[in-house]
Amino acid sequence: MTAFKVSVKKETCIGCSVCAQICPTDVFEIKMVKDGEYFRLVSEVVREEACIGCMACVENCPTDSIRVEKAEAEVKA
Ligand code: SF4
Ligand code: SF4
Repeated sequence: MTAFKVSVKKETCIGCSVCAQICPTDVFEIKMVKDGEYFRLVSEVVREEACIGCMACVENCPTDSIRVEKAEAEVKA
């Protein structure tokens, strides 16, 4: 079960890779994407299930582009 929901706001991400470098569980990868006529780098969430909710990415993103939220409890035992 995914414990945390991780999302990157592509509109404001500048592809600086701080999140990819700081995340202890490699949740992010920096990818080249087409943006109109040009290509640019953005961070993509590739391993959301590995997130431990440390908030290092949220605290260190220079453009405040990352959200990490606790996922809703799916099944209560
Ligand atoms: S730290 Fe923020 S701006 Fe930099 S690549 Fe990650 S999401 Fe984008
Ligand atoms: S909260 Fe921590 S573990 Fe989760 S994506 Fe951000 S840096 Fe990685």
